[in-house]
Amino acid sequence: MDFEFYYSQEQEEFRKEVRGWLKQNVPTDLHDAVDPLDLPHETFRRGIDFRIKLAEKGWYAATWPKEYGGGGLSSSHKVIIDEELAEYDLPSIAHGDTGNGLFGPAVMVWGTEEQKRSFLPIVTSGKSVTWQCFTEPEAGSDLASMRTTAIRHGDEFIVNGNKIFVGQLWDVDYLYTLAITAPDNPRHNNIGAFFIPANLPGITLGHLDLISGDGKRTIYFEDVHVPATQLIGGDTDGWKVTQTSLELEHGGSGRAVDGDKLMDKLLEFAKSTTRDGKPISSDPENQDVLVDAYIGYQVNRLFGMRNYWMRSMRKPFTYEGSQFSLNRKTYGPNLAEAMLKVTGPYALIKDQPWAPFMGKLEHYTRDAIRIPHPGGTVEVQKLIMARRLGVSRTREQGAAYI
Ligand SMILES: Cc1cc2nc3c(=O)[nH]c(=O)nc-3n(C[C@H](O)[C@H](O)[C@H](O)COP(=O)(O)OP(=O)(O)OC[C@H]3O[C@@H](n4cnc5c(N)ncnc54)[C@H](O)[C@@H]3O)c2cc1C
Repeated sequence: MDFEFYYSQEQEEFRKEVRGWLKQNVPTDLHDAVDPLDLPHETFRRGIDFRIKLAEKGWYAATWPKEYGGGGLSSSHKVIIDEELAEYDLPSIAHGDTGNGLFGPAVMVWGTEEQKRSFLPIVTSGKSVTWQCFTEPEAGSDLASMRTTAIRHGDEFIVNGNKIFVGQLWDVDYLYTLAITAPDNPRHNNIGAFFIPANLPGITLGHLDLISGDGKRTIYFEDVHVPATQLIGGDTDGWKVTQTSLELEHGGSGRAVDGDKLMDKLLEFAKSTTRDGKPISSDPENQDVLVDAYIGYQVNRLFGMRNYWMRSMRKPFTYEGSQFSLNRKTYGPNLAEAMLKVTGPYALIKDQPWAPFMGKLEHYTRDAIRIPHPGGTVEVQKLIMARRLGVSRTREQGAAYI
């Protein structure tokens, strides 16, 4: 069976247009940092500036509806844009934004028409950064145990509480967050979902640097007055709203393009690096490790492509999102181990000129420690699959999405 994408003449013409435009517009000195914590603020801002240009072209929120500021293009066009962008070493903020990508679809499903018209262009313009702020110190896997409250007083909610492990190193404009709006209601029917301007009085951000190089943040809400217009869905619809975002985060958005190309880098390194006069790829033990890693990589790539296709075709998801996520979360650390076995100490150094690929292998081996955690751990993905396959006492269906 052949799973690869093929492109029509019209799509190849589009590729030429994208390639030409990127060549003209990508600043030659705009590069990602190997370690996210090393990304200078100036580079982050320049990434946003480039993203705004990309959005003006309709290529940032490329598949989102035109009436809400998106590009109105097909998924195949989006894949072409992503493939061409992957040829550049741009900071991820220059073309993506996880928070925007998870918040927008939730508004499309649950927002009023007025909210779609006011919130979605904020996202599609590329100008604003959104963080998805769900996790709390006592509510990670068991998200419904959250303690942050948002109590309604007429046309506004007063928010108190805190979030952890959220956001990124630099600036933020909006917080897509959850809070208990009806403390006396049963679990899951007591939560509201909010799109909160990050500069409201009473919001404090703290830093939480992880060994993986993630600049995560803590957020404290102290008597924050949030206008009721920022509530997505009804006062107690938050759990349903968040399921739309979590379905995507749990693997339902798939992945058609591998921007990191780490497997290619590992193979390249193994073929071009010699030990005792022979390429390290000729060692039978290394061959064993590399072949296993390559098979794992290809399986993961195909799960990602399948889910991307399912989402593009609006196919209903059952276990597939979590299957991809579970595979990624187990395969990721395996790839890091393969790197360590094949390259030895090279996978542990980032000093130049010795570290391969500017230290990308070192960062990946460190980053692999955290891969199983964000967006639902390995155990959580197994739980979701069991519930959706009907082999658990608890049954659940896929979330509503667009
Ligand atoms: C790098 C990174 C980025 C993140 N980014 C974000 C973000 O942008 N926004 C956001 O809201 N959150 C974010 N998170 C938080 C992330 O979603 C949580 O860490 C995750 O959901 C796990 O929650 P926890 O850390 O509280 O661990 P816990 O829920 O306390 O889990 C601890 C361990 O117990 C296991 N466990 C828990 N429940 C069960 C069960 N029922 N059965 C079996 N095992 C179980 C878990 O699998 C885990 O191994 C991020 C985390 C990391 C590390």
